[in-house]
Amino acid sequence: MQEHLFQHTDSDDKRRARQRIEELRALIRKYDYAYYVQAQPLISDRDYDRLFAELVELEQRYPDLVTPDSPTQRVGGQPLEEFAHVQHRTPMLSLANTYTRQEVLDFDRRIRQALGHETYQYCCELKFDGVAVSLRYEEGRFVLGATRGDGLVGDDITANLRTIRSLPLVAQPVTVENVILSNFEVRGEVYMLRRDFEQLNRQRIAEGEKPFANPRNLTAGTLKLLDPRQVAQRPLQLVCYYLDSDQVRLHRQSSNLELLRAMGFPISPHWRLCATLNDVFAFIDQWETRRRELPFDIDGIVVKLDDLEQQRRLGTVARSPRWAIAYKYEAEQARTLLKDIVLQVGRTGVVTPVAELEPVFLAGSTVSRATLHNAAFIEQLDVRIGDTVYVEKGGEVIPKIVGVDLDARPADSTPWRMPTRCPCPHRSRLHRPPGEVNYYCESPACPWQIRRRIEHFASRDAMDIEGLGEKVVAELVEAGFLETIADIYDLASKRDQLVGRPGWGTKRVENLLAAIEASKAQPFHRVLYALGIRHIGEVTAKLLAEHFGSLDAICRATMDELQAIPEIGPRIADSICTFCNDPEERHIITRLKKAGLAFSAQRQSKQSHQPLAGKTFVFTGELDSMTRTQAEELVESLGGRATSSVSRATSYVVVGRSPGSKFTKAQQLGVPILSEREFFELLRTHGVTI
Ligand code: NAD
Repeated sequence: MQEHLFQHTDSDDKRRARQRIEELRALIRKYDYAYYVQAQPLISDRDYDRLFAELVELEQRYPDLVTPDSPTQRVGGQPLEEFAHVQHRTPMLSLANTYTRQEVLDFDRRIRQALGHETYQYCCELKFDGVAVSLRYEEGRFVLGATRGDGLVGDDITANLRTIRSLPLVAQPVTVENVILSNFEVRGEVYMLRRDFEQLNRQRIAEGEKPFANPRNLTAGTLKLLDPRQVAQRPLQLVCYYLDSDQVRLHRQSSNLELLRAMGFPISPHWRLCATLNDVFAFIDQWETRRRELPFDIDGIVVKLDDLEQQRRLGTVARSPRWAIAYKYEAEQARTLLKDIVLQVGRTGVVTPVAELEPVFLAGSTVSRATLHNAAFIEQLDVRIGDTVYVEKGGEVIPKIVGVDLDARPADSTPWRMPTRCPCPHRSRLHRPPGEVNYYCESPACPWQIRRRIEHFASRDAMDIEGLGEKVVAELVEAGFLETIADIYDLASKRDQLVGRPGWGTKRVENLLAAIEASKAQPFHRVLYALGIRHIGEVTAKLLAEHFGSLDAICRATMDELQAIPEIGPRIADSICTFCNDPEERHIITRLKKAGLAFSAQRQSKQSHQPLAGKTFVFTGELDSMTRTQAEELVESLGGRATSSVSRATSYVVVGRSPGSKFTKAQQLGVPILSEREFFELLRTHGVTI
């Protein structure tokens, strides 16, 4: 009887386990699809990892319930229909991951047992939070680039990868055991700097598009684009961590990293060979704090057995190697009170709800505001004033609200409603154009909009007026010097009034006026972008400038003529027509034309301006078409400055073959990096042909 009872309970447990396993697999498949295929995750990595760990545990308890199609048996993604498929030489696996030290200890114990009395070391590396890629080289040339896909078959994204500036199209020859390495595979991670991610997201929000959740998703979304020209517009970075070749036997992960560096591949300078677990933990701890200093996201540390022969002997299980483990850092989250939801007005009049929080310490800084994106986002999460919310710093510097603690919700709370009027002194009505998620303040005289418009006009990618940043704009708008962007060019006539202001010496005023004067040399497409026409980002501005050649021609074009450009849809065309027909905007344009700004592409080439004025260049490595000194002279002849050391003030680092430490420094500081070809392209966009 007793025995029968036990059997009965056992099978009950198993039945429950089977049911839960099915549930978990269905959930994980759904989340995998959203994450890998759509690049739009539905839950946080931490929550996903919890579900995954639960599935692994249940399958370990009931091994007969493991099926070959279980997510625990395969690598997450799948190749996409749109691309040609590539069979990997050796499978591209995932990594076993853990959030606990105990599991790192267990991992080490398993290694020790498997290796008997042999000594071993670990190579510890940063775990870049990006997208894995495989790069094949033949005769030293880059011939094929692929995503991981399902681990066995990936997508051929060679054309997209070619746009990444740090990817060597030809590798430097290196000799290993008397053989010149020419046919080999490199693997690495494509990622994006936080700064670039934020800029692209801001642009997307301004253009009424859905922002990406974090740099990783934006990178994944970018690599899936079918048009490499679009990919080239997004600054992707590459870091390599794997090398394999049939030509020679390679011995150590750490020596492979050195070889990769010698071959001209970007590798992370932050790795360490660890002889003991204490060293491994010290490395993990050090980066847990220091990761915030990095200009990109890492989500943990990868601990790899250094000896490749030992790696081979240990082999792999299902979806990950036995010789490595990823120690993941907890997402940085805090719980705090949402005191209020206020509205912020952007340059195009877009009105964004922002959460005012009870200040809370999160990931190295005190947070008191978080973005709420738009009214639809608030409705979806049902965030209410007075709620206790979870705030995360994900990839963004601006934190976001990721959840609400419903148990802590006050009984009398009510759902938040989007106000009908702008908080600016004009209190004008808010309006949501059909098909958009954003609301807009319709009053062009709204002082908040004016500030944002002027800030945008003067920003680095637009007219690039140094000294006209957020604070100065706020001050000059407040003091009545600036009411529209055209007033910037009248400041020279108000020199004396400016010099008299507190904190404004003659030198500061002269510097600002010189920067304003220099901005008159900016090419037409930048002026067009700087005008801040709704939905016209940098790329669209360039397209329009190329197609129509002048603002007059753009304004003369009909909706149909505008939409004849494939990238331009009715929304953009409509926005252009509204802008061109607005009498106030027309008045501003007339004043800007008078000030001497370029409103047509022709004017650029006729002008004898100095197109690189205000830009600082650093050259590193050998160039193909000229010596470094010649390149430096060229920059100077065009009004730019060529210096020998990289700093945050450097505008571009131009990288030739075998670049030195300046290249790494540029990556660390997030300074834009150009290949030789891109350098010449940049000159061409300024009307200079060599
Ligand atoms: P992973 O990201 O945990 O680890 C493997 C990957 O790490 C490798 O493929 C490689 O791309 C990368 N990597 C970065 N630096 C590396 C280095 N120095 N050396 C070696 N590899 C390095 O595993 P995965 O299979 O890519 O993805 C699974 C993870 O993705 C999950 O654990 C989860 O966190 C996340 N995920 C989240 C969701 C979601 O809905 N939020 C869905 C699916 C997967």
